[in-house]
Amino acid sequence: MKYCRRCLYPENHPLHLTFDDAGICSGCRIHEEKDSLDWAEREARLTTLFSAYRGKAPGKFDCIIPVSGARDSHFIVDTVKRRFGMNPLLLSYNRHHNTPRGIRNLAYLRTWFDGDYMQHVVAPQRVKAITRETIHRMGSMYWHVLAGQSVFPVQIAVRFKIPLIIWGAHQGLDQVGMFSHTDEVEMTRKYRCDHDLMGVEAEDLVGGTQGLRESDLVPYMYPHDREISRIGVRGIYLNNFIRWDTKQQHTDMLERYGYETGTVPRSFDTCNDVDCQHHSGLHDWVKFAKWGYGRASDHASREIRLRRMTREQGIDMVAKYQDTPPADKQTFLDWVGLNAREFDGEIDRFRDPRIWERAKGSWQLRDSILNHREDSGVDAARLPIKEDWSEFPVTATKDPDADESAYVLMARGYSNDHRVRPEWPAPRS
Ligand SMILES: [Zn+2]
Repeated sequence: MKYCRRCLYPENHPLHLTFDDAGICSGCRIHEEKDSLDWAEREARLTTLFSAYRGKAPGKFDCIIPVSGARDSHFIVDTVKRRFGMNPLLLSYNRHHNTPRGIRNLAYLRTWFDGDYMQHVVAPQRVKAITRETIHRMGSMYWHVLAGQSVFPVQIAVRFKIPLIIWGAHQGLDQVGMFSHTDEVEMTRKYRCDHDLMGVEAEDLVGGTQGLRESDLVPYMYPHDREISRIGVRGIYLNNFIRWDTKQQHTDMLERYGYETGTVPRSFDTCNDVDCQHHSGLHDWVKFAKWGYGRASDHASREIRLRRMTREQGIDMVAKYQDTPPADKQTFLDWVGLNAREFDGEIDRFRDPRIWERAKGSWQLRDSILNHREDSGVDAARLPIKEDWSEFPVTATKDPDADESAYVLMARGYSNDHRVRPEWPAPRS
């Protein structure tokens, strides 16, 4: 397997990478733009863009922001609402595998920003049937989350005639350099289908092993192009306009808003995935089982590109987390109604033969980044370190009695400790 000489990505990255003559991947090359673009100028473009939507429809929302109990939600709402003075409608798709900590974080966000909020909770038995089908169809336990969270904002945009949706970072740009920041790529049905949904639209799941009906899949269906163009719905990505650095963003926002972070099983990033029981557990193990690498590689590659981590430190992180077994597996199996043999059998069908082989009755990696510590060209590809590596922040829990390994489908969405204060805190200079 070929690996990037700067970051840790392999050539079988499912979003597709290319390598240049120096053996540096397209994701690393596009990432260099973060240190070369004029971000003040890019932010001015965002100011212009927002002013075309702000207060244009009296009594209506200026935009939609999809939020969750993790990721960059606090940063995005802080930027859009506090810094740019937009009036957003906050939305989330209920992923069903919520952690108590994620529920609390969303409550802090809703309370602090005092924003109108809508959530879609699809019927649990239907979500389970869809999940059994997508495990069978493409080895995905997470299709419903990816499909639901990427389409609910579009459906609401059409229904309530709110033409602007604001997303955080574009994954294809940030991970593999599919686009330049200056392309200002926007949300499309095609990207969602090809990449978020692994090529399988909701309509494709009708029938199947679970006998799903079209009506079961309506919550996951993209609105018709005619409706989208009638309202003029567009979805923009903030990372095209603001230099994206999730660790710095969390550090600033934690100080300002005091939400919670926590350790996750299979990576060192304690901020971005704490709202889901499986994202950095079984879901990441499945990713590893398919592609031979997991979230630790994603997170370390990001830190290497941001010049806080050496490639060697990144490889140490992968070595530390790669083989961690998913302790949350049985919880998921009980929920979805499969046994371990059935589940493993389905996932094994989707192992990438470029990286996995079956030998002596078990699956063996043919290669891994651990074998590519000293590849030729690594030193030449290296970026100078700008900041010494430090661990991601871990906060104390605000609910020591909560069972953090339990699913919470719905819970109280308001926090007495995060009452809205009369004034916004002063913006960071
Ligand atoms: Zn790279």
